[in-house]
Amino acid sequence: MQVLPTVYQLTLRGVNMILIAEEELTLIDTGFRGSLRRITDFIGRLGRSLDELSLIIITHNHLDHCGGLPELTAATSARVAAHRADLSDTEAGLPYHGFVRKMLNVPPIPLIQPLVYARPGDVDLKLDGGEILPPLGGLEVIHTPGHTPGSISLFSAREKLLVVGDTLNNRLPRLRLPSASVSIDISQLKGSLKTLAGLDFETLCFGHGRPVIGGAGDRLRQLLARVG
Ligand SMILES: [Zn+2]
Repeated sequence: MQVLPTVYQLTLRGVNMILIAEEELTLIDTGFRGSLRRITDFIGRLGRSLDELSLIIITHNHLDHCGGLPELTAATSARVAAHRADLSDTEAGLPYHGFVRKMLNVPPIPLIQPLVYARPGDVDLKLDGGEILPPLGGLEVIHTPGHTPGSISLFSAREKLLVVGDTLNNRLPRLRLPSASVSIDISQLKGSLKTLAGLDFETLCFGHGRPVIGGAGDRLRQLLARVG
C-alpha cells in the first residue's frame, strides 16, 4: 500500500517493510528469512528494480525484521544501517530476555541464529542515534530503546513521518505497546515513546499493523495519557 507519494508499506507474514522510492530505493526492515522474492516483485510492480536499492535500515535485531537481510545483501550492493546496541557476535548479546532467551538456546535454534540475526559484520553503518540519513529530505535516527536495547525510530520532518518498528504497534482496534514478553524493558520503552510524542508528525508506520495516516501525533499522545 502507498503511505505517502514516495513511501510504501509491504506486509509479509504479518510483518511490515517500508520502501522509500526516490531516485534511489531505501528499505526499512527486511521481514522474515525467505522474503526476497516478494520484495523483488513488489519493487518490480512499482516499475523499479532491486538493483536500485542503496540503503537498508534495520529498526531492531529481531528475526521477523532482519531475517531477510542475508538474502538482500547477497542480491544487492545496498549498505546496511542498524543501531550498534542490537549487534553482538555472541548469543549472549541477542536482544531478548528471560523465557524467550531460554527458548533461543533450545536446539536447533542456536544453529540457525546466524542466519536470522544481524551480526556486527553484516552492518556497514553502526548507528548511535542522532544521525541524519539521506532519504526523505533527511531521515533522523532516534534511539528508542525498550523493545530491544538498540531499537530505533526514523523521523522525516519534511514529510511529518515517523517509523517506529516495534516500539509501538497498531494491532486493531488501537495503538498498543509491544508485548512485555518480547521486550527488554517496558518502562524504558515508555520513556522512548515520550521522546517521540514531542515530535511533529502526522503519519506513523509500525512493524506490525496498518499505518496511521493523519493525526498520528495526537494518537500517540492519547496513548501515553492512557498508559503513561
Ligand atoms: Zn521485535
